[in-house]
Amino acid sequence: MNVLIKVITGSAALLLTLLILIPAGFANEPAKLSEEPTAEQALTIQQQLTYLDNIRLEDQSQFRAGLARLRQLQLSETADIEYLMLLNAYEQALLGQYDRVLPVLTQLLDASSDPTMIIKARMLAVNVLLLSNRHELAFSYFEQLTNNISAITDPELMAQVIVLVMFTYNQLERYDLSLLYLRYIDFNSIPQKLACRINVIGVEAKFKKVDSVATENETNIVIDECVAAREFIPANIARHHLMRHFLKNNEPEKVLAIYQQYIEEIENTHYPMLISQVQVLAAQAQLQLNNIQQAATLANQALLSAKSSPNNVALVEAYATLYQIAKQQKNYALALQYLEQQYQVEEEFNASKAKQQAAYHTVKSEIELKNQRINLLDRDNELLFLQQSIYQEEVKNSRLLLLLAALIGCIALVLAYQGLTGRKRFKIMAEYDQLTGISNRYHFNNQAKQTLKYCQAKHLPVAIILFDLDHFKTINDRFGHATGDWALQQIVQACKQFMRSNDIFGRIGGEEFVIMMPGCELDKATLLAEICRDAIASIDCSSSEHQFSLSASFGVSGSVVSGYDNKQLLADADKAMYEAKAMGRNQVVEYQKTDQ
Ligand code: GH3
Ligand code: MG
Ligand code: MG
Repeated sequence: MNVLIKVITGSAALLLTLLILIPAGFANEPAKLSEEPTAEQALTIQQQLTYLDNIRLEDQSQFRAGLARLRQLQLSETADIEYLMLLNAYEQALLGQYDRVLPVLTQLLDASSDPTMIIKARMLAVNVLLLSNRHELAFSYFEQLTNNISAITDPELMAQVIVLVMFTYNQLERYDLSLLYLRYIDFNSIPQKLACRINVIGVEAKFKKVDSVATENETNIVIDECVAAREFIPANIARHHLMRHFLKNNEPEKVLAIYQQYIEEIENTHYPMLISQVQVLAAQAQLQLNNIQQAATLANQALLSAKSSPNNVALVEAYATLYQIAKQQKNYALALQYLEQQYQVEEEFNASKAKQQAAYHTVKSEIELKNQRINLLDRDNELLFLQQSIYQEEVKNSRLLLLLAALIGCIALVLAYQGLTGRKRFKIMAEYDQLTGISNRYHFNNQAKQTLKYCQAKHLPVAIILFDLDHFKTINDRFGHATGDWALQQIVQACKQFMRSNDIFGRIGGEEFVIMMPGCELDKATLLAEICRDAIASIDCSSSEHQFSLSASFGVSGSVVSGYDNKQLLADADKAMYEAKAMGRNQVVEYQKTDQ
């Protein structure tokens, strides 16, 4: 059987979260510290503050000791007081005490008129708020940062802001906006380490936007630069993007070559987010090569590493891989268990992503309403101009949404007024099968067409399962039509319990049923068919007061092979179903192109 490996897109989105506030313990190769002040008294307060700022990630204990010493001093210069406040906030952030950071930053932002200080405070606010899932507030600080970005004169500070901005846009899957910021960077004026981090984030955006050979070549250059700068975590994050690219292009050997060469170095980063993702990619590559044992070992390792870090997409991918493996081994019970775990973590993951994106849009609209920002925009600034047009589109969309909501409100009112009047009863009768309560053929086709249109527009897969009961005529003939009717109801109940809320279940013939599953790949539909087949065969018929068993033959088709035409999908599933009948009934056949 052809194993389809699903590469989950939008992965690695959270991979770099820790890089911004990366704790010292994770740095495998401590960077060279700035010159240690031997006689502190000889240094100005400002120099001491700068020194502490430089070492805060690499040497936390020295940073905190220095900070405690400075807090004892009576500082008189405003600039010194403000810098100390910022460092205090950094300290709290590094300790993970995010709720203590914001009050300090707000105080600093209210008091300060130093543009550099304001930018640094806003950056930290965005970081901390994102890490503590306070997305709306995070994006309002983010907006303020991006609005004033062109005013920054120091190239290094500019680059630091852009790391954060690009990273955030990548998280929001706005790769187009992310890449626009690259042009603001003067790569000749910034340290190699910073350039490396920016380029790795850029590479991610490019892979997501255009997954090309050019991006592949560029990634190799970026990796070399990062290695030269001894930035091993970003270098290996870039390698992981390459692995993902090769896996997508069905080049598992290349994925494994990177894995074998660098896994030791990657494990030495002690960065679970990265390690687990690399392991799961290697597992998927082994699965592509049909090396089931190696795939299973790697997927289990990935699962273990992924569990130690929260919000990790590798967890979803590890379960997806283990599900594929169990299915290949025909261990359907285990497969279902993994699939359920996958859905559960995937749901949590998607929910937090959706919340993030919603927060971003809310903030954008609020700012628009309050400030009429569009009129104030600097029209000469190409970047802001671009953002504005994208933004206007969003405002238009949100107005449309409001209109739509109002419309739905009106419809609801009318319906409430009508109550269960004759028209609605007629509608229910016309749409639902009276015996089983599921959609009739006519209604199924209408729902199916709408669903297919939606999925095609959103590039989502769709699969359908068609099944026909085996030797059903015999049951009618032997036990009467009433028993036949009873059996039809039992079958619908048995299958219904395994369906998701968006699946459409229809009775399209006397004893012929179809399930349409939006967003579902062919292999998952086949598994569901297998589960339904088993459920039907397990129906206990003794309560009908007759002794007999039930079974059905299943055909499965999907949009990847059959396209988005309802008739074609049904015809292909029908062909597969007939094959299942011909092969002896009570089985599932997946429609493949070669079946034609
Ligand atoms: P096969 O395995 O080839 O599908 O055999 P089969 O006996 O199921 O053959 P076929 O599909 O041709 O037969 C369908 C039977 O389903 C004919 C009809 O008596 C029965 N049937 C169709 N609708 C109903 C219904 O609403 N109630 C009952 N009790 N039987 C129905
Ligand atoms: Mg039939
Ligand atoms: Mg039949």
